[in-house]
Amino acid sequence: MGGGPVGLGLAATLGKARIPCIVLERRIEPSAIPKGQNLTARSVEHFFRWDCADELHAARVLPREFSIGGITAYGSLAGQYWYAPAGRETVSDFYYQRHERLPQYLTESVLRARVRALDSVTALFGWSATDVQLGDDGVRVTAVEESTGTRREIEGSYVVGCDGAHSMVRERAGIASSGADFQQRMVLAVFQSSDLDAHLERFPPRTTYRVLHPELAGYWWFFGRVDAGTWFFHAPVLADATAGNLDVHSVIERAAGSRTACTFQHVGFWDLRVDIADTYRRGRAFIAGDSAHSHPPYGAYGLNTGLEDAVNLGWKLAAVLNNWGSPGLLDSYTQERRPIFVETGSAIIRGIEHDRAFLARYSPQHDRAEFEHAWSQLTAGETAPPTYEPHYEGSSIVWGPEGAPSSAHGKHTFEARAGHHLAPVMLSSGRNVFEELGPEYTLVALTTDPRPGEAFEAAAREIGLPLRVLTDTFDGQRTAYRRRFILIRPDQYVAWTGDAPPPNAAGVLRRVVGGP
Ligand SMILES: Cc1cc2nc3c(=O)[nH]c(=O)nc-3n(C[C@H](O)[C@H](O)[C@H](O)COP(=O)(O)OP(=O)(O)OC[C@H]3O[C@@H](n4cnc5c(N)ncnc54)[C@H](O)[C@@H]3O)c2cc1C
Repeated sequence: MGGGPVGLGLAATLGKARIPCIVLERRIEPSAIPKGQNLTARSVEHFFRWDCADELHAARVLPREFSIGGITAYGSLAGQYWYAPAGRETVSDFYYQRHERLPQYLTESVLRARVRALDSVTALFGWSATDVQLGDDGVRVTAVEESTGTRREIEGSYVVGCDGAHSMVRERAGIASSGADFQQRMVLAVFQSSDLDAHLERFPPRTTYRVLHPELAGYWWFFGRVDAGTWFFHAPVLADATAGNLDVHSVIERAAGSRTACTFQHVGFWDLRVDIADTYRRGRAFIAGDSAHSHPPYGAYGLNTGLEDAVNLGWKLAAVLNNWGSPGLLDSYTQERRPIFVETGSAIIRGIEHDRAFLARYSPQHDRAEFEHAWSQLTAGETAPPTYEPHYEGSSIVWGPEGAPSSAHGKHTFEARAGHHLAPVMLSSGRNVFEELGPEYTLVALTTDPRPGEAFEAAAREIGLPLRVLTDTFDGQRTAYRRRFILIRPDQYVAWTGDAPPPNAAGVLRRVVGGP
């Protein structure tokens, strides 16, 4: 339910695994608000797996020279104090695709075209779900076509609520959520301005600009590029602000620090809160993306986290429905994905609190030297820091270090580690390992001896697991993995590593499909 980016990403994952599924989306066309624009390199890997990375890159509307990172300025964009923090580019080498930036409606258009082309996906755009019933043996969704009033009853094995922050699926499944409500209203404006481009020429080319100001109590004045000349702006406003009583143009001019002619395309409002569901599954109902967690667009996490949810859940549902995953595999979805957002949400809250405390403590008017020293120590930016490396070391379906937790924070390295994303390396064939991974599990065996690979293949046959074995030599870039045997999940996370074949390969494989 819900054909925003997360629902479409889930449909693409299921469709590629030939699972029959229906996407119900009430909008005939995607919303015209740019929303989540920064796609991390990791997210673009999903588009590669869905066979539409080229289409995604082709849909970009910003000139290529604008990097994913941003500028942080004090007081206004015309102020004396600013810095350009390291962006996600610093970790690009650890991903097979390059990051991308484009308005969310274009990302959704690429995904809509992709799912329409998949035989096993039925995409119903312009249809609203009006009821969901959850049973022990299946689910039933009532859907109504908005334009004709035609009603359909849809029965299925599972329902996944990708239906946004006000999720009906979450509510019908009785899943509670909790978090922090800042009681802070925010304005969102989309506008065109060539003046703003001209003001920003003093900075290196960047896509986002955030302003910290003592009056904002840690919230941001934030500008993001949409295309050449079009901008996206959000800012804290009074609780009773409306499009009628708020002079958003003067807020933009204060944030820009200069006269800035604007032509507005959209002015809307949202409330700043961080919220997370207590569980991402109840029985046959799952939730993913904004229906499972929501937070302000501070850090470019929203869309990227949702797409990872879709991929994580998608391969597990496909495994169970294609009869090679144990039912327990489905519980690992909450187990793996929820801790990542708990930490992400906390980091966003801490970031606001840190900025608030900094702005209250330091001021160039009060003590310029002290302020300049403290300002020079700041490194935080608008996009996730390089230490954002979600991993599932604590998952019950990976062979991670004993007692280790899953976490949003980790270290980027080429070393293959159970629970972590696989880094891309070249194979001796001259192709990248990402081009050779199978649709399900893959064993990379870096040895000239064919016997360990054969033993894994036999064990996989024994438990019915589809496994591709990739044999190569342990030299060149591949030595960076520091392991000779690497078992890789369908979402390119490492499930198990070893320097020698295990005595009980079937035992290793049983755990990674949710078995005992
Ligand atoms: C104003 C705004 C600005 C944002 N800016 C950023 C940003 O800069 N960076 C970032 O990473 N993220 C940003 N986000 C967040 C990002 O847009 C979301 O994280 C992302 O859209 C989540 O995708 P989703 O598919 O989970 O939910 P949504 O995009 O909300 O999609 C849910 C879909 O479900 C459909 N739906 C709901 N109920 C029903 C029903 N009953 N029947 C049929 N269809 C239904 C809706 O029409 C919608 O298309 C922003 C969000 C907003 C609102």
